[in-house]
Amino acid sequence: MIRTEYDQLFIGGSWEVSAGSERIPVCSPHTGRQFGAVPLAVAADVDRAVAAARRAFDGSDWPRLDHQQRIEPVRRLLDIYRTRVTEMTEVVIAEMGSPRWFAEMAQGSGAAALLESFLDAADSFDWIVPPTAHNTGTSVRREPIGVVGAITPWNVPQLTIIPKLAPALIAGCTVIVKAAPEAPLDALLLAEMIDEARFPPGVVSILTGGPAAGERLVQHPGVDKIAFTGSSEVGGHIAAECGARLARCSLELGGKSAAIVLEDADLERTALGLKFASLLNSGQACVAQSRVLTPESRYVDTVDALAEMFSDLSVGDPDDAGNYIGPLVSERQQQRVMEYIDIGIAEGAEPVVGGAGRPDGTAAGWYVRPTLFADVENSMRIAREEIFGPVLCVIPYRDERDAIEIANDSPFGLAGSVWTADRAHGREIADHLRTGMVGINGFGPDLWSPFGGYKQSGIGREYGPIGLSGYLEYKSIYGAS
Ligand code: NAD
Repeated sequence: MIRTEYDQLFIGGSWEVSAGSERIPVCSPHTGRQFGAVPLAVAADVDRAVAAARRAFDGSDWPRLDHQQRIEPVRRLLDIYRTRVTEMTEVVIAEMGSPRWFAEMAQGSGAAALLESFLDAADSFDWIVPPTAHNTGTSVRREPIGVVGAITPWNVPQLTIIPKLAPALIAGCTVIVKAAPEAPLDALLLAEMIDEARFPPGVVSILTGGPAAGERLVQHPGVDKIAFTGSSEVGGHIAAECGARLARCSLELGGKSAAIVLEDADLERTALGLKFASLLNSGQACVAQSRVLTPESRYVDTVDALAEMFSDLSVGDPDDAGNYIGPLVSERQQQRVMEYIDIGIAEGAEPVVGGAGRPDGTAAGWYVRPTLFADVENSMRIAREEIFGPVLCVIPYRDERDAIEIANDSPFGLAGSVWTADRAHGREIADHLRTGMVGINGFGPDLWSPFGGYKQSGIGREYGPIGLSGYLEYKSIYGAS
């Protein structure tokens, strides 16, 4: 059994009633029916959380503790998280329809692994920058940035909250999380664990709210940094707001990643690899490889191999481990993806599998038909815009140079992949791609390496020691020795 009703928000370390009276309905993407509700945070709740975070940062020992002392409650949080991983997984399946096979891998245990990786990173981190060879007598310290506002999306809710919360806390910041309204239960379950881990008063707040609460956090003069994951559209708006008041900001945004299939690739294995890399979480993944670039000479064979893979996809109840594709998170998202399928058809692309309408056997719920588009040109909207659903575009290329040009001809630059029998050559192609992450014969983010994108896919990086650096300022103390 999972908890589906909350009456309070977690503000500054205690459970408090919202200043507003509205609630966020929590609906099952599988049935469309409401099964829970949580408070909708309003501006006054954000103000209370920021005031508590400010007091903890400016007036308590927290930011000045030795990092070994500071990580104690984070370590307790990890221990508690591990005991509640299954519950977390079930919550995410219920609230956002993440297919069980993916949710079990990523939505709970993946987040726990990320939390652990930051604790490890803290142990080996250079908290004091080693002196230079110039022997100037200057000491360079690293200090927490201050109060952090973390604004997160619904698709991988814990995988986007933890890489902000954990490094910020380890760095000595105080944090206010504003979780997405489509996935609020996992955030409040995390708040229960944080409560049990006993952080000092004011250090953590978890709010469930919509764009208005996010706006308030972004504009609040008491917030020193906004760490945002979400769409490029909202990210651009947040960057402008932060720019206006010169607040720090990091952005993890959308993508339209290219999978480049080389002449020598085994097409059956590639199609199997893309089943994961393109369709994970029902295609609701920022790193989804949603454009497949394949040589003209192998175009028909590639489309055939992908069509076979698509025809085998089981679509249905995300709770059933046998279903590879679940519903989309909301009716709005279902309509958006269906619209893109219509746009693709109108643009002249051919839906080889799937197409308009609901999948057979799904009378209710926010399902779409997994759709494989052939005859796609990179100038089409379906190849340029992020669809965020189980929709794949196959684009032919003349030679490898052409493939690299097409891959880079995108407003985004988050991820990409190369599929080949010659890994070393795949690595050479990867060097030419203007994206933050590239996989060779697969795509699996490594928790220790920087995660993030070029161009409209974001600014800054999360994960590992570089992710931790994002919550620290440098201070040079001259004449220290
Ligand atoms: P979204 O941009 O609509 O919303 C993200 C968050 O911002 C939510 O909490 C939302 O309530 C809040 N928000 C919306 N408008 C706001 C405003 N004006 N000011 C402040 N906050 C505001 O994105 P979404 O639909 O929740 O998530 C899907 C998007 O997230 C996709 O584009 C996806 O690629 C991206 N994403 C990126 C990564 C990454 O690491 N690069 C990871 C996961 C998801």
